[in-house]
Amino acid sequence: MINSLTEALSKFRSEVISTEDTVLWVKANSSSTAQISRTSYLKLKRGNPLPACVEALPACNKCSGIFVFGEFTSYSAFEMFDDQLKQSLSKNEIRNISEPQWQTLLPEVLGGAIFYECCSCGAIWLLVLPERAQRGSWTRIA
Ligand SMILES: [Zn+2]
Repeated sequence: MINSLTEALSKFRSEVISTEDTVLWVKANSSSTAQISRTSYLKLKRGNPLPACVEALPACNKCSGIFVFGEFTSYSAFEMFDDQLKQSLSKNEIRNISEPQWQTLLPEVLGGAIFYECCSCGAIWLLVLPERAQRGSWTRIA
């Protein structure tokens, strides 16, 4: 029994319920989706709950504070990020996880992609490694 949108989304994020079940829950409980934007709601109804997760499930200071989100501005920015990430990993603030089942909902990534989960709030982050013309990025995806 799921009682709220945030509960449905966090169960989806941690793979307790499938994408399909998440979408079905949302369709049956559309009155409880007022907290997310229309865009995220439509994406959710069409089968992608990820933007709604980022909107409705808050991330804590530990994972949000690791580095600036988005594409790395340079290779040295990536190296600075990498140092910060290693510190967070060694303090068990964040952990490396295997690819979630729902990663097929993400745009395809060229090169290496590594998934991390915050040990405090459960937010999922994606590191795309810099490679050739690609600068790489650090983004919260769920
Ligand atoms: Zn966190």
